[in-house]
Amino acid sequence: MKITVVGGGYVGITTSVALASSGHTVHIVEINKAKVNQLNKGKLPFYEDGVEEKLRWFLTSGQLSIHHQLEDCINESDAVFIAVGTPSLADGSADLTAVDAVAEQIGSYTERDLVVVTKSTVPVGSGEKINQLIRQKLSERGVDLMVDTVSNPEFLREGKALYDALHPDRIVIGTSSDRARHIMKAVYHDLHCPVIYTTIENAEMIKYASNAFLAMKISYVNELARLCERTNTNVQHVAEGIGLDKRIGSLFLNAGIGYGGSCFPKDVKALEAIARQQGLTMHLLEATMRINETQTEWFVNKLQAVLHNLGGKKIALLGLSFKPDTDDIREAASLKIIHLLTQRNASISVYDPQAMENVKNLHPQLYYASSSYDALKNADAALLVTEWEEFKHMDWEKAKMNMKQPIVMDGRNALSPSVMKKLGFYYDGVGLNDTQ
Ligand code: NAD
Repeated sequence: MKITVVGGGYVGITTSVALASSGHTVHIVEINKAKVNQLNKGKLPFYEDGVEEKLRWFLTSGQLSIHHQLEDCINESDAVFIAVGTPSLADGSADLTAVDAVAEQIGSYTERDLVVVTKSTVPVGSGEKINQLIRQKLSERGVDLMVDTVSNPEFLREGKALYDALHPDRIVIGTSSDRARHIMKAVYHDLHCPVIYTTIENAEMIKYASNAFLAMKISYVNELARLCERTNTNVQHVAEGIGLDKRIGSLFLNAGIGYGGSCFPKDVKALEAIARQQGLTMHLLEATMRINETQTEWFVNKLQAVLHNLGGKKIALLGLSFKPDTDDIREAASLKIIHLLTQRNASISVYDPQAMENVKNLHPQLYYASSSYDALKNADAALLVTEWEEFKHMDWEKAKMNMKQPIVMDGRNALSPSVMKKLGFYYDGVGLNDTQ
């Protein structure tokens, strides 16, 4: 099949590469000219393992092409996927400006029957609005075409994006059109997983409900961690004990300094906003957000209690991205920590394998170290913010010799407390007690 994907970001590019891997011919449309130029040179505008090589391969083979304008490729496509951003507005609801603009462009330029597939995360009712915007443009042009809409939310995880796109747990297809259902079957012909056929509105809700549930699990274990510290219990042991219950499951039960990224914070807020617009209060979502908002400050307060005063102290942040294996810093805990430490007059050195450039644009005044060891030089304390593998396997004995004070605060419970203590560190994590 011939498919156009609008939006050359994490989802758009990964989806395009996955669709090309399934044998389809894919056109990517990206509004940002600099990104178009970069992509045409085979360079990703973000870090995601394995995607750049595939992108280059398909660009060279001609199976994938990059465009600046939708009108250049829409009439060579059987389906158009919308994968543009849907950031938060001030009231927490999703900003649909980009999605609406793409819908209008589709209505303005298509000369043929189409299936329009929304991959972007959008509130319930957006599919219907996309449909109306397209129809309005078609009728303004006096054109009668069959344009069917589908909600096909994306569940990939950054850091494992391509694997997830090629091996999804499930595919959700929301549409009322048999023709669209048939075409979506052909799009995903070689993926083997459960497929849920449902209404557009249900599909839209499934995406928000999934992300909110995962965020809730994280906030639950984070709040539990605070209680564990007061009750001389260990949240890792508790999480293991509850996670082995198949009804609960062990994933997303790692206590830490809170969730971040481009999806969880924005999607929980958006679901809460959807409820608010319906006159409903979502108590669990409110609590989920509140716990997450306060988790980093709770952790920085723990550091302050150890150092007594953060003014003039040198704190080394290990990790800046919102999670390992990505350079994405959207809503990252590191940014909140930098803000809090700056307010408390600490001096900050940072190191991250991939995300330093992104943070440098926001906070040029920090010391950007050339390695984790360099970041730790003369540090009064290290804060492990992102659990990159290299921090777990570094030579902490060597690191200790560089530090002014051997203090490690592990915001992701990524290191072994017993090993760190044996090496002579003051070590603390999230919800840990000396039970191991
Ligand atoms: P992103 O910001 O990385 O990429 C969006 C891209 O769309 C940008 O490059 C932007 O320039 C481009 N764009 C905006 N308007 C355009 C237009 N009119 N025409 C062409 N290009 C346009 O966003 P993302 O992380 O890829 O997320 C996209 C959507 O997918 C969001 O709704 C998000 O919630 C959802 N999603 C994201 C993830 C994730 O892990 N990032 C996972 C699942 C779902």
